[in-house]
Amino acid sequence: MERDRKGLAMVVRSASIKDNDRLLTLFSPSLGLLDVVSYGARKSIRTVKAPLYTEGNFSIEKGRRGWTLKDIDVISTHDYILSDLARSQAAMLFSDLVMTGRDASPELYSLLADAIDLLETDSAEKVAVEFIVHYLALAGISGDYRTCPVCGRAYGRDEILGFSSAEGIAVCHDCDTMGGALLLPPNARAYLGRSLEMGIRESMSLSVSEAQEHRIFRYLLRTLPLSFPGKLRSLEYGIWDL
Ligand SMILES: [Zn+2]
Repeated sequence: MERDRKGLAMVVRSASIKDNDRLLTLFSPSLGLLDVVSYGARKSIRTVKAPLYTEGNFSIEKGRRGWTLKDIDVISTHDYILSDLARSQAAMLFSDLVMTGRDASPELYSLLADAIDLLETDSAEKVAVEFIVHYLALAGISGDYRTCPVCGRAYGRDEILGFSSAEGIAVCHDCDTMGGALLLPPNARAYLGRSLEMGIRESMSLSVSEAQEHRIFRYLLRTLPLSFPGKLRSLEYGIWDL
């Protein structure tokens, strides 16, 4: 086994351990998800700063007690995210989905890296909508918002979608199992369908009113725990009023 490795990665979790040391979880398209200790101030060790959501080329070393961080060629520290509550909550949800879903595919890395970049420039709710809808599609737990994933029928132009709690997915009116408690109106459905035909960066150009964006955001956050098979602590303890 190699003692030294280097790869593109992002810090998706950072927890304080002791003596100013931190346990970082890195998400890397080549190394996967891995825990790395970042040593704080010591006489013998050079301190490498790696705040949450830092992206760069990380050099890590295998020691007796696991991986330690040696150096980073920083691409971006995404400082702005941590200075804003809505942005940091969104970033925390994205990391939570990545870590809880335990998927470390290069496709997911590129979706996360794009979303974290976009959080510095675009509205947190809009980025969250696009990240969630693309994430669920990548994870294979979303329909295409064109045809019902349960009965296979193509949706009508003005059809309002219901939700199947068994499948954790938006479905046609006939397949709804929630008595109309989670409805998706036709314009929102069309928006999500169009988003899925684009990459996350392109989909940011889809124009929608702020009120509509907020409704879609709330819908996705309310349905996410029903769609996603793991427990999302960032939603349970999040700031969002759903
Ligand atoms: Zn159906």
